[in-house]
Amino acid sequence: MTSRPKPTTTDAGIPVASDEHSLTIGPDGPIVLNDHYLLEQMATFNRERIPERQPHAKGGGGFGEFVVTEDVSRWTCADFLQPGKRTDVLARYSTVAGERGSPDTWRDPRGFALKFYTEQGNFDMVGNNTPVFFLRDPLKFQHFIRSQKRRVDNNLRDHDMQWDFWTLSPESAHQVTWLMGDRGIPKSWRHMNGYSSHTYMWVNGEGERFWVKYHFKTDQGIEFLTQEEADQLAGSDGDYHQRDLYDALAGGDHPSWTLKVQVMPFDEAPGYRFNPFDLTKVWPHSDYPLHDVGTLTLNKNVSDYHSQIEQAAFQPNNMVQGTGLSPDKMLLARGFSYADAHRARLGVNYQQIPVNKPVSEVNSYSKDGAMRIDLASDPVYAPNSYGGPAADPQRYPENAVWAADGEMVRAAYTLHADDDDWGQAGTLVREVMDDAARDRLVSNAAGHLADGVSEKVLERAFEYWRNVDEETGRRIEAAVREQTGQSES
Ligand code: NDP
Repeated sequence: MTSRPKPTTTDAGIPVASDEHSLTIGPDGPIVLNDHYLLEQMATFNRERIPERQPHAKGGGGFGEFVVTEDVSRWTCADFLQPGKRTDVLARYSTVAGERGSPDTWRDPRGFALKFYTEQGNFDMVGNNTPVFFLRDPLKFQHFIRSQKRRVDNNLRDHDMQWDFWTLSPESAHQVTWLMGDRGIPKSWRHMNGYSSHTYMWVNGEGERFWVKYHFKTDQGIEFLTQEEADQLAGSDGDYHQRDLYDALAGGDHPSWTLKVQVMPFDEAPGYRFNPFDLTKVWPHSDYPLHDVGTLTLNKNVSDYHSQIEQAAFQPNNMVQGTGLSPDKMLLARGFSYADAHRARLGVNYQQIPVNKPVSEVNSYSKDGAMRIDLASDPVYAPNSYGGPAADPQRYPENAVWAADGEMVRAAYTLHADDDDWGQAGTLVREVMDDAARDRLVSNAAGHLADGVSEKVLERAFEYWRNVDEETGRRIEAAVREQTGQSES
């Protein structure tokens, strides 16, 4: 006997009479208003889309686990980072500037967002596939993203707008150099590293504090697409990266990353040759070597993309005991803006959506609001004498903190001995890239600049590149002039 499929029901669980025919007066007559099932189908369809993320709209991901393989307890007491510990994880990868339907293979940094469902609450590492960023002050972030998206008049992306912003913001040079290099278009999400980029804090069991940077190094090896390959794929398979990860996980090919950290003793920050909280800088490995921590492995696809990826809400302020933020201004601003974006897109109770729900017990005093799912209970205030939750500063002290005083100012970071906007970008070009990689950098940057950038911005761009590296700047200028058929001015 063949088993019958489950009966179709309304969203209220009531079996329906037809999947195909609306309720009409006679076969050719008008549709009646009491066809509740038809109305529900039309109404839910109209509301299927929610606002896309602004930015990082296009992405995908999967579930997995993080296993600690080393002992880092001398630096952090975070429970999920103790030797041998295993924690469930959700990962989401994304492009930054493109919309939800945009091609995966546009040149862009990639988001590398992780949610660790720890027993002490959710820990989120909302990183990128690059160790640095275009900016160091959050006041410029909104302007930066607008410059990468679309013009008001023709609704087109515009290289002139991008280079206008970049060349007027020299702190972007390191990230732009990185972006125009090979790693600017990864072959797949499996073949790229993830970096916290920001500096974070760790606190050990004795209350000692350290500054850390997280590096998730791909075990698949770094691989990239050339501009030509990426352009071709953008036309033939816009979902190339999404498909690659989905197929790998479905086929049992589980990608993994080794988590390594750089650790700086708390008191070394003021005297370090670079400002360690400046997001446009790395800590050279020779200054702070990488230490292994554990392995992140993805092993399961999501089953409902919308519920588990589109509604996934990562926020850099989700720091558990033994971990914390740092004085990085971009990080501190993201601590507010990510949670605020989720409240705007998903509603105030977004942390009750199953994919965002912690595995640890939630005992907060939040209540009410749209789409409340968890039941709140009395008392609804603290302190109270009716047995409501009470903070326990002995067990959970506020220790991921740092001293700050001084005048309230609007100012750039304090410069440390080796701080400038060009140095580390130049190191990348001269000391990390080989001749072939430098050739591709020149070709990528020149191709980008030759595509619709005005003369006044071009002049600034050539100077920008000469500041990064004299020879590279000269070659980019020559290549752009050749492609646009203009002679050097
Ligand atoms: P190292 O020689 O120790 O490290 C250079 C690092 O550059 C490599 O470990 C690799 O990072 C990364 N890299 C290799 N090829 C490329 C490429 N085409 N594009 C971007 N990155 C690449 O030197 P330092 O630590 O002194 O850093 C020198 C420069 O390397 C920095 O100015 C920075 O631009 C870049 N870099 C540094 C990182 C750091 O955290 N110190 C991380 C990534 C880049 P990985 O091992 O992470 O794959």
